[in-house]
Amino acid sequence: MRTDFDRELEERLVRYTAIDTQSDDSTGIQPSTAIQLDLQRLLLDELTAIGAVDVRLTDYGAVLATIPATVENAPTIGFLAHVDTAPQFNATGVKPVVHRNYNGGAISFADAPTLTLTPEVSPYLGQKSGHDIITASGTTLLGADDKAGVSVIMTAARHLIANPDIPHGPIRIAFTPDEEIGAGVDVRLPADLGVDFAYTFDGGEVGEIEYETFSADGATVTVTGVSIHPGWAKGKLVNALHLAAKIVQTLPHATMTPETTEDREGFIHIYEMKGSAAEVVMKIILRDFERDGLTAKGELLRQVCAAVQATEPRAEITCEIRPQYRNMRYWLEKDMAPVELAHAACRDLGLEPVSIPVRGGTDGSRLTEMGVPCPNLFTGMQEIHGPLEWISVQDMAVATQLFLKIAERAAQR
Ligand SMILES: [Zn+2]
Repeated sequence: MRTDFDRELEERLVRYTAIDTQSDDSTGIQPSTAIQLDLQRLLLDELTAIGAVDVRLTDYGAVLATIPATVENAPTIGFLAHVDTAPQFNATGVKPVVHRNYNGGAISFADAPTLTLTPEVSPYLGQKSGHDIITASGTTLLGADDKAGVSVIMTAARHLIANPDIPHGPIRIAFTPDEEIGAGVDVRLPADLGVDFAYTFDGGEVGEIEYETFSADGATVTVTGVSIHPGWAKGKLVNALHLAAKIVQTLPHATMTPETTEDREGFIHIYEMKGSAAEVVMKIILRDFERDGLTAKGELLRQVCAAVQATEPRAEITCEIRPQYRNMRYWLEKDMAPVELAHAACRDLGLEPVSIPVRGGTDGSRLTEMGVPCPNLFTGMQEIHGPLEWISVQDMAVATQLFLKIAERAAQR
């Protein structure tokens, strides 16, 4: 179970997670936060130091590099991970803690005495007795999502460059910013990557190889009322807050929400509502695995808006729906070779691959849509985007072995 990679992976994850790289979808700049470049510059130096070539930081904030081929006529494979951490939870001042040789019991947090991580809360932890577990200290997320992916790729890259006797084709590396705000894949990235196919290391449990994600649209509903002094408002005021509340009330509650759906069911999720009696802006996401289902959810939202509009013609209700990303299966099922290669590499490690649809998207969803087939591979990360986030060092070592097996197998074809 222990491998030569364990200490290196642990050391990398601890160093990378201590650097704050939170993204922010409200800044309107690229990358969304300058702090992400702190880690990007470090990775630039480290890639150069281990002997990677073509190492560069693009003006859209991605770090790119090449591990030169040791054999000819093998396909060029890309490996990607994102450097940003999720905006949904405090990510400033991450203090990673290594719980060596985990005893199977409760893990407590120095900075949050009431918080505990147990196999009851996180069942996968129950399989990790004897592993080295890394958590944050209780007040922040850890950021294994996706610095575990960064650590795995860096470790595998260092290993391949140091061992030129291992046969493999050209390997391209990309560390992207802003994945968590859905802006990780710049239009220039596919051409800059220049690969036949790619993988993101941004998945969970060991064995998970994912090639299906949600299809996703985002909607903005704006309710404009008629604003007037409440003292002489009779018959004149049209309160946007009341109408917005009616829209929320008319949307499905007991079904079709994130909290009432699972597996292959989609949802409509209102995640933000801001405004006043004069105007309210509502932000909504629509998710489904199938195009028809996604279209139907958009139609339902429009119908709800139209119905509430009909009750008050003096108000103005607009509903704008825009595409975000699409299920990568639509493209991958036409050529399953990248998925099959990862499945075979996984079996080489004595593990049966599991491919369940992801109730979210990855950088690979956009990349696949843009012509670069890009399934998602496990890293071991668990309970992401919150204070209980944890990862096993030994799981990351299995992910590192998977990288190496994929590279090796691709060169044999
Ligand atoms: Zn991620």
